[in-house]
Amino acid sequence: MKKPIDKTGTIADTFYPIIGEEGPLLERTKATMAWLLSPEANGIGEKLLRDAYALHKEPLCIYVTQDRNTAYLNKDKKFSHMLAWNPIYNDSLRHISDDGTLFTPSQESILAHELVHAGQPITRKEFIRLEKVPEAVGRRLNNSKEGHALDKAFTRHMEDAKNAAYQSQANESIRQAVEVLVTSNKMLDKAEHEHPDYIDWVNKYETQAVAAEREVARLRGEPQRANYTEEKDYSSFSIKNFCELQEKVKVKDKIPDPPLVSSKHPLGFWENLMKDNQLTVKKLNTR
Ligand SMILES: [Zn+2]
Repeated sequence: MKKPIDKTGTIADTFYPIIGEEGPLLERTKATMAWLLSPEANGIGEKLLRDAYALHKEPLCIYVTQDRNTAYLNKDKKFSHMLAWNPIYNDSLRHISDDGTLFTPSQESILAHELVHAGQPITRKEFIRLEKVPEAVGRRLNNSKEGHALDKAFTRHMEDAKNAAYQSQANESIRQAVEVLVTSNKMLDKAEHEHPDYIDWVNKYETQAVAAEREVARLRGEPQRANYTEEKDYSSFSIKNFCELQEKVKVKDKIPDPPLVSSKHPLGFWENLMKDNQLTVKKLNTR
């Protein structure tokens, strides 16, 4: 769809529609864009939108959704020049700042990042190349010694969980199985980040996007992202997997808890000794 730049209309009319279900997320997205187009943003939003328009000759469709992660989609099977925008997902992101601390980036800085992608001449071929990286490193790790060891450990913990009589024992084994999953995921991430295709992509496209993100953060007085690498928070991953494995092992059907080993001496050793002796004395007396 070719559309000449409408000199009389607003920037919104010309460069982007924001679509999605009416509600707080849509309003929030409009406010995010409004900031990027405000004088405070120093023209960044408008410049990025103009670049994207110049490249694609069509407005950028910003689709507000909770059904998928935030991502710029170009020459995708279904979408051409579209930004899937999920403010809830954005809230879950954690970046490393220049001083090494974790922080949640602002929606404005994330939007600037995605708008940079919208103006980059990314080809479908490059997308596919990047998408294949996780699969490739996964295959390699599966066939590695470390991969085998982790696989064995996971199977063992799951067997222990299945065979456990008590819920608490089963849960402990599942907890260990989840730890193995987290370890293997961290390994996968690391291998992915070291893959040449991934590094190429970051150098070619992400570095520019992070620079825009940093500029917006600077203007807003927020922490600035140190690099493209994301510090993943595995807590929700762990909880989700823990619950799934609990279902698999049918933990609920197991005996609720091992019976408490009743302490013979709940009052303490000497107090009980005294009591026992008194009883013995009494018994002796009544004999
Ligand atoms: Zn990016």
